[in-house]
This record gives sequence, C-alpha cells and structure tokens, in this order.
Amino acid sequence: MSIKVRFAPSPTGVLHIGSVRTALFNYLFARHNNGEFCLRIEDTDKLRSTDENTQLIFKILKWLDIDWDGEPVIQSSRIERHKEIAHDLVKKGKAYYCFCTPEELEQKKIKCQELGQPYKYDGKCRELTTPIVGISPVVRLKSNTDGSTTINDMVQGVVTVKNSQMDDLVLLRSDGTPTYMLSVVVDDHDMGITHVIRGDDHLTNTFRQIQIFNACGWNIPTFGHIPLIYGSDGAKLSKRHGAVSAIDYMQLGYLPEAISNYLLRLGWSHGDDEIISRDDAIKWFSFDNVGKSPSRFDMAKLQNLNGHYIRERSNESLLEYMLPFFKLELSELHKKRILRGMDSLKARAKTIIELVDSAMVYVQAPTSYDEKCRKYQTDFHTEILNDIANKIESGEFSCDEETLCSQVKDYAKERNIKLVEIAQAMRVALCGKLVSPSVFEIVALLGCSESVSRLRANKSKH
Ligand code: GLU
Repeated sequence: MSIKVRFAPSPTGVLHIGSVRTALFNYLFARHNNGEFCLRIEDTDKLRSTDENTQLIFKILKWLDIDWDGEPVIQSSRIERHKEIAHDLVKKGKAYYCFCTPEELEQKKIKCQELGQPYKYDGKCRELTTPIVGISPVVRLKSNTDGSTTINDMVQGVVTVKNSQMDDLVLLRSDGTPTYMLSVVVDDHDMGITHVIRGDDHLTNTFRQIQIFNACGWNIPTFGHIPLIYGSDGAKLSKRHGAVSAIDYMQLGYLPEAISNYLLRLGWSHGDDEIISRDDAIKWFSFDNVGKSPSRFDMAKLQNLNGHYIRERSNESLLEYMLPFFKLELSELHKKRILRGMDSLKARAKTIIELVDSAMVYVQAPTSYDEKCRKYQTDFHTEILNDIANKIESGEFSCDEETLCSQVKDYAKERNIKLVEIAQAMRVALCGKLVSPSVFEIVALLGCSESVSRLRANKSKH
C-alpha cells in the first residue's frame, strides 16, 4: 500500500513551532516510505482564518524545505462536498435533523452540572419523524453507542474508548455549514489519506471521527498522535516561554537546518545522534522511535545547534543569508571585509542576528558603546590609543595582523601595561563592545586609515 499523509494547519493564527514539528514528522514519514505528503489548509473558520496566515504557512514550509506534493487543498473550497455527505447520511438513516434550540440544550447542560453529571446530548430528536416548523435544524450523527472503539496508534499504542461515551455530534450547523469533525473526515477520505499524524490534543477527536468514517462505510486511516511540546518548566509551550511562532524563529536568526534538526530530535531519537542531516533523517525516520511523553523545548540546545549550523555553512552562503538582517545597504567593500573576517565572526555566533551584530564592525564605526566599555575609556586609555594611532599613521606600526600583534605586544612590555588592557581598549574603540574577533584582525581588515580614525574617536559617543 502506498502511503499518503497530510499536514492540515488552520490559518487562524501564526503557525506554531509545535505544528511545524507535526509537518516535519509527516514529511519524513512520507519521504522515508516513498509516499506522498500533502498540505491541506483548514480555513473553514472564516472569521478567524486569514490569507496572511496561509501565506505564512507556505513561507515557513518552503523555508524549512518541507516540500509538499501537488497543490494544497483548500478546505473551504470543499464545503459543498461536506454538506452532500451529511445529507447522504441523513438519507441512509445514519444521521438526523435535530431541532433542539440552543436555549433548550443550555438548560439540559445546567441540569447535568447541578447533578454533577457529564453532559451528553440525550438523542431527543433521533426518532423524530416530522420536522418542527420555524426552526432551522442541525444535522447530528447517529452515533454507535454499543461496544467500544480501539485504535492501534503509531505513538500511543492501543487505545480503547467505550462508545457509550460518544454523543451524537453535530455534522452541519443550523446555518447549514459543516463542522470541523465532518470536514476533516470527508477530506481525509477523499484525499486517500492512509495515515493521520497530528498532535495528541486531537486524540479524543479521533474517536468521534471514527464514528463518521464508520457511518460513511469508509476505511479508517492509521493514526499517530504526537505528544505536545512543553516549556522547560513542564507547562504547555506558550508565549511565556519565549517565541512560539515559527516565523519568530526565522526572524530571530535561526537557520532552517537548525530548526529542522532541533524539532526532529524533540520527541524522536536515533541512538545518541544529535546532528542529523535531512538525508539521514529521511533514511532513519520511523514511529518506532517517537516517544510517548511530552518533549521539553530547550532554548539553549537550539542555540547550540544553530551555532553549529552557522559554522557549517560556507562563508558566502552565510553572507547571503545575513543580508536581509542588516538594517542598511552594504557596499561591496563591506561585503568583502565581512567575507574575509567571517571565519572569526562565525566561530562564536549562536544566531544570525548575533552574527550580523558582530559583523557591523566591518560596516561602520561604533554608533554607541556598551555601558561596560567605559572602563576602557579613561584618559589613560585614550592616551594609549592615540599613541598607537599615531604609530600606525606614521608607518611605525603595521596594519598587517601578525606584525601589528607583535608590535603591540612589545609596546605593552615597554610601557609595562598588560596586553589585554590595550587590546580591550582597542576593541572598544573599534567596535563598541568587549567581545569581538581579534583586534589585530579587525585593524587588518578595516585598513589603516579607518582604524586610526576609530582609535582616535574612542570615547565620543556615550
Ligand atoms: N486543523 C487542525 C489543527 O490545526 C488539524 C486537524 C488534523 O490534523 O486533523 O489543529
């Protein structure tokens, strides 16, 4: 049997990082099995769905290289088909019109609450033979309440639910629009979905959806319910823990390969492997290694992975990736300097934002200085920096990295000042920070005249 899966996000909000992991697991499962991976946009909630969110879903998946097969299915374009199935079920006696008013149902709910009983629709309209005039009915499924339903979930294992817990769920609302439960089932069937892989928050829906599959006489797909992602404190991942939307990670300067690798390892493992290429992920992915317990999002781990992938990228590709993050247009000279300094710059960056921030040394003189820099901006430091600037200007000191390094070392010895004191003062003057690549490398890449001018402007911009 050839495998066909789908990722079915609702564009009612920005794509959550947890949903991206669902997409990735679907994608890897399909590619590993030479199956198909489809995309379905579940936009039937017209009030909350936006085209902007839909476009973001496409953008994020493309960014992560999670390519889907065929055209995306837009659920709202299939409403007539969903309605047709509901009416068909009524004709076959598998569903019925229910004329109970919201007020009546509310009363019953309150009564149940008072008695401390769980509420379930009592099936009042099940056997109704004549319609009630003046009320637009909903269509309800005649649920099978005998026996139980068992699934063999790819992640959760065998799960059984008593059918007596099932209520006659609504298929069409009183305005004739299909409910989410109905649309999902009809689309999964019509698309020929063989495996439904989604978050375990959908597990209870699955048993209700199976009732619809059965009423229609359709094959039931295999299910895989992935545990949700939690924050470091064990609570469901939310804004409180930091960024939760996929687009935020893109904008915060994470590389797609790092996000993809991180999400893969969140809930799936292959021995002790931490760094896993896309090719290996496709080769190795299986639900046998997806854990049942919730995963905890570890920002520090993600940053380390991102740092790894930054160092893995070629300098040219990194520069290309960095360009949109600069708030100003770079000249060819800037780009050349950054490329030449990239090995040192990328050695310590954990995000593209950090990398761009440190590369600014090759774009412009510091426009401000960190508070901690003041320590290296005393009259004593200013005098040393001016002295060094003079020596560079007169040609006594070279702008070649190694030569300058040994000259400044000798100078420090002569004046009985610690080298680090001079290097830090130079660093502050050149980049406005206390952390940067070697100051001698920076001077070499900036050239003598730019370096001299920055060394002299040491403390003018607090
Ligand atoms: N649209 C649903 C959601 O975003 C997913 C439905 C499904 O995967 O079956 O939660």
